Amino acid sequence: MANSKLLSTTTVRIKLPVKFRKETASQSEPQTTDHNVPLKDSENPAYRELLSNFYDAIIITDNSGKIHDFNHRSLDFFQYSTHDFQSINIKSLISGLTDKTISSLIENTEMKLLSLMEAACQTSNDSTFPAEITVNKITLNNINFLIFSIRNIWRRKETELKLKAANEKLNESNKKLREREKELAHERDLLHTLLAEVPEYISFKDKNLNYHRINDALANLFGLSSPAEAVGKNQYDFLPKDIAGEKLIQDQKIIDSGLPLINNESMFLINGKDICLTSSKVPIKDNEGNVEGMITISRDTTEKMKANQLLIQAKLKAEEANKLKNDFIANITHELRTPLNPIIGFTTIIKNSYDEYLNDKPLLEEHTNYILEAAVHLQNIIEDLLTIANNEDKILFKITTFSADALVAEIVNLHHFQIQKNGLDLKIITPQESVLFHCDRPKLFHIISNFLGNTVKFTPPGGNIAIRIVIKEDHMIFEVEDNGIGIKQSDLVRIFDRFVQAEKILTKSYEGTGLGLAIVRELSEVIGCEPYVFSELDKGSRFGIKVPTTLYEIK
Ligand code: ADP
Repeated sequence: MANSKLLSTTTVRIKLPVKFRKETASQSEPQTTDHNVPLKDSENPAYRELLSNFYDAIIITDNSGKIHDFNHRSLDFFQYSTHDFQSINIKSLISGLTDKTISSLIENTEMKLLSLMEAACQTSNDSTFPAEITVNKITLNNINFLIFSIRNIWRRKETELKLKAANEKLNESNKKLREREKELAHERDLLHTLLAEVPEYISFKDKNLNYHRINDALANLFGLSSPAEAVGKNQYDFLPKDIAGEKLIQDQKIIDSGLPLINNESMFLINGKDICLTSSKVPIKDNEGNVEGMITISRDTTEKMKANQLLIQAKLKAEEANKLKNDFIANITHELRTPLNPIIGFTTIIKNSYDEYLNDKPLLEEHTNYILEAAVHLQNIIEDLLTIANNEDKILFKITTFSADALVAEIVNLHHFQIQKNGLDLKIITPQESVLFHCDRPKLFHIISNFLGNTVKFTPPGGNIAIRIVIKEDHMIFEVEDNGIGIKQSDLVRIFDRFVQAEKILTKSYEGTGLGLAIVRELSEVIGCEPYVFSELDKGSRFGIKVPTTLYEIK
């Protein structure tokens, strides 16, 4: 069957007076015959049988292209009736075949060269088909004939075209594949660089929550030498058990629900250090929306968390300081009133009963002592307030030389009345040698006097108290000891802070401003000494101050 799309030609029809002869007796159509030329063997049945059995069209022409004989296949190929076919020249059947080309074909055959060509063949109904044509020469009765063997190759051509189209398609998809591969390689490089360089911890897990891939930073956190070591493992292999359990439950929820979890904070101990992570976890889904795994990106927010904690601590401290100040104001009002009551009370009684007192001197002495004691107490409170409010005097370090014994005696004397009143047993222990101080006397006096005052205050009546000077190898200490109420260990660290009273202010079992020991600490710093305390609740306390050798000499 001809295929006009394969090759197109223009042909010229030449009508020639050709006679025909039957090719085979059985065929109803007039068979090919030739009476025109002396084809001696064309009547030979074997020859005719041979001719009719060719799959190709066989056309025999003379040198001018005039057809002398042909087989039945020729009629099939060219769509001619026998009658019409006899009258045409082969040049009108084969595109591009001219007298010149026929001459060169003849030359080829004479030189025994194979004449093989491809050309478009023209059918009677103006369609064309591609053909492979071989030309041979025979000479009969000294007349040359050309045998055109024409093979319809439209099927081959069509296959070739299909192959070509398929090939082009293949090349195109190969090209696309190479481009995609290139893109993928680029994306892989980007991902690789990202995973290797970013400080964030990144992991990809499959839907069984096993690590599929982790980045370098996370491998480092897990203490692995390479990210590949984590593949196929899960959190239990790297995190503390309880944390791994919690995280697996959390991850399972993401896999089950397909919903992400953003900015989730977790804290745990890994490789001996506490770490706080803020993580975002996102499910990975396929095209149908099925969860295939998850990706986690975590930031190390340990420093931020620590800063937050410090901020919270500072806030709590500020709140506590504020509360202490408020308590202090409430307390100080009470403290100022307490000594004023006996002062006003006893002064009023004395004023109203002069005569009575003139006759009872011991009573007068007792009552004036109450007034004096209350006045000294008031003075001490005011002194403390002034000291804490006004730094100037504390900072000045005024050196004088004085004896340790005399200092202790004077301090004891100040508290003598209260010691006696409370029925306390006081021991004074001082060294044999006389010790000369080169120090700020009022400040040292204030410190030791505060210790003794507290001892007197916090030791129940009948208790034992002591004041002593101990000379050590490279320093000397002033110590005040009692077997009084003692201090809870948890309060010990705070009692040198301002306004702190271990004995709860609201219960008000003991007088005091909570300023004394804070002043002791500040004064000690100014004179270069160090205060300390040992105490046990309900057993007693020992307060002391270490004096460096530079501040004294032993005579
Ligand atoms: P206060 O004016 O309350 O005595 P301080 O600063 O001198 O203030 O003392 C602070 C707190 O330390 C006291 O309120 C008390 O709770 C505790 N304290 C000090 N000395 C003693 C001591 N010898 N025995 C028991 N507690 C003491």
